Amino acid sequence: MSKTVLVTGGTGLVGKAIETVIARENPTDEKWIFVGSKEANLTDLQSTRAMFERYCPTHVIHLAAMVGGLFHNMNNNLDFLRKNIQINDNVLALSHEFKVRKVVSCLSTCIFPDKTPYPIDETMIHNGPPHESNFGYSHAKRLIDIMNRAYHQQHGDMFTSVIPCNVFGPHDNFTPGVSHVIPGMIHRLHEIIYLKDPEKPQEEKVFPVYGTGKPLRQFIFSIDLAKLFIWVLRNYESVDPIILSVDEAAEVTIAHVAKSLANAFKFKGKLEFDTSKADGQYKKTASNDKLRKLLPEFQFTDFDSAIEDSVQWYIDNYEKARK
Ligand code: NAP
Ligand code: GDP
Repeated sequence: MSKTVLVTGGTGLVGKAIETVIARENPTDEKWIFVGSKEANLTDLQSTRAMFERYCPTHVIHLAAMVGGLFHNMNNNLDFLRKNIQINDNVLALSHEFKVRKVVSCLSTCIFPDKTPYPIDETMIHNGPPHESNFGYSHAKRLIDIMNRAYHQQHGDMFTSVIPCNVFGPHDNFTPGVSHVIPGMIHRLHEIIYLKDPEKPQEEKVFPVYGTGKPLRQFIFSIDLAKLFIWVLRNYESVDPIILSVDEAAEVTIAHVAKSLANAFKFKGKLEFDTSKADGQYKKTASNDKLRKLLPEFQFTDFDSAIEDSVQWYIDNYEKARK
């Protein structure tokens, strides 16, 4: 039976990466449809229903969400909670109504308990309150796992979820105050190098890194995540979530990220840490043991080369980038 795969959030960072990988593969037995908010406002049930009536998907990758970095979350916890609960409830309810055979939704390693043993694994999602900076987003995302289990228990639906670590790559959201750390730094470095005081020698310029630079993060290149998402859709048959992350050994400090970006831009100025800005969660080290057991041969892209590709994409696509 042929598949029609509907990707919500198909215009965003992860959605565009999946579209890129699928365009390279050009599968003949799957029809892929990528939708953004112009196509349907998923906080609205009627709009969501009209989209399902239009496409009658057999499979759904559900990415659409209100998404943002630390500072956007800190200022908008209520909106993150309400919008994401509405979107998720509508998408899962319509997936059930339209007898979708499989839904893969997207959680995040930043929704785990703040006080937890490390490394974090898939069994620990609900073991305590999340970090206070993003409690709205975290609780909305945790409810996806609860809904998946309830749909499975009551109706036998195969609704599952994946848990990516921090993602970056082409088509990211570079908007100041909204963005995650990597697109945020790319935007600011580009501005410092090319737009602010163009006459000033670069050696005299300063790149302010927010926070102490000490927090630790695992970062996955969006193209790698896209390949794993497609593998989950085709091969993973369990309601239990699965962490899609680079290895624990690949965890880096925010200071390391700043240096890698400065190298990619060939920035010759100084890095300074603005400790008046928040650090957020110190770390959220996640174990990818479950993934490694199921897919031992998967190769992650080298961090520095993925950073170079992302910087180059921003420079080449400056006019159309979300900023
Ligand atoms: P993104 O680039 O900000 O894209 C968000 C997508 O959601 C866009 O396609 C957007 O559509 C759509 N969307 C937002 N509100 C919508 C609404 N009311 N109705 C319909 N569509 C709506 O985000 P992303 O980074 O790709 O995130 C994708 C998924 O990965 C999310 O579920 C996120 O929680 C998860 N995730 C992200 C990260 C990360 O570091 N970025 C890490 C872990 C998990 P338009 O652009 O057309 O408005
Ligand atoms: P998180 O991983 O969910 O906490 O989200 P972010 O991607 O926003 O990363 C936040 C970490 O990066 C914090 O330690 C911030 O202090 C640090 N950081 C440094 N510069 C920036 C920036 O320009 N934007 C953002 N969002 N965070 C930054």
